[in-house]
Amino acid sequence: MIYLDNAATTKMDESLIEVYKSFSCDKFYNASAGYSVALENAKYLAKAKEILLNKLGAKVGDIIFTGCATESNNIALQGSVKEGKWEYIFSKGEHPSVYNIAKMLEEQGKTVHFLDLQKNGEIDYVQLESLINDKTRLVSTMFVSNETGAINDIDKIVKIVKAKNPRTLIHVDGVQGFCKTPINISSLNIDFFSISAHKFHGPKGVGALYVKNKSLLRPIIFGGGQEYNLRSGTENLPGIMAMVTECEKIDVAKNLKHTQELRDVFLNQLDLNKVHFISSGSPYVISLNFPGVNGETLMRALEDKVIIGTGSACSTKKAGNRVLEAMGYSKEYAKQSVRVSFNAYQSVEEVEKAGKIIMETYLDLYERLK
Ligand code: PLP
Repeated sequence: MIYLDNAATTKMDESLIEVYKSFSCDKFYNASAGYSVALENAKYLAKAKEILLNKLGAKVGDIIFTGCATESNNIALQGSVKEGKWEYIFSKGEHPSVYNIAKMLEEQGKTVHFLDLQKNGEIDYVQLESLINDKTRLVSTMFVSNETGAINDIDKIVKIVKAKNPRTLIHVDGVQGFCKTPINISSLNIDFFSISAHKFHGPKGVGALYVKNKSLLRPIIFGGGQEYNLRSGTENLPGIMAMVTECEKIDVAKNLKHTQELRDVFLNQLDLNKVHFISSGSPYVISLNFPGVNGETLMRALEDKVIIGTGSACSTKKAGNRVLEAMGYSKEYAKQSVRVSFNAYQSVEEVEKAGKIIMETYLDLYERLK
């Protein structure tokens, strides 16, 4: 079985078990306790933050460890909401962990704007510029789309936003880009960046939030005051250490080059006169449209041989695809689309074989269903 749904989650690097075990069974002490072995763990925690900041290229700011990127997004977004007549801007392409916060704010009576997407999946930058004013509290757009692989131009977004209102906060959901697509936060004036370990071969249940200025955030989780009082709860040190160990190992440029080759070889197996493909961005994620065959039907038919997705795991049960529809594709088109996502440790042969199987299965289904 060939796994091509790496945007949903990746297989954990097995060598991390040792790291996890060491911080669970040997150095298991609570990093907030006052005795010396616990203080040692507090130092590991500080070191782990340094590793993530280095990987992000951040010269200022800090890291808050969380339980997942859904939590990071909630802490950044809900924690930035202010009383009063402020405005919030979200893109229509966001993951549900951002989009549903936007919907909630709208239901609470706040002024929320939703940015359209272009045909290539990037946000509408012109519309963004037209929406910024001195009441704009926050803009949230993702780095790499989990549905299409489209890469938003974060530098351009920052310039547009800060030129019109330097006080507007910018949140970037970096989940599908971190450790995959080069980024250097020091040259980008952003305020928040969300990360999730299980998307880059780390363990599940660990995430992080980069925060440029902690004093601008209000906590949404209350408790013992861990993580600068912004995410109370005992830190998952085994998971955190496993995440940063993996992060340090990753050669982003080398992996990107290999994944580009994987994507190209894969696409070569498809008849692109029959199959439509959207992606001008990250080679890790592509969206494919199979005319005449439902994405769900294709996914099920392939299941024993190749695993693909029909989009965000959180939206598989819903009809259609909000993101593709926001890009201007019809509901019908969206229903006939699937998501294929690679990981940098797969072989060229494996994805070549998967591409052939997918094409054969599609043609077979097409004939039978017409
Ligand atoms: N943001 C994006 C773009 C994602 O793809 C995902 C996961 O699919 C998330 C956020 C949520 O991540 P987590 O599973 O760590 O909560």
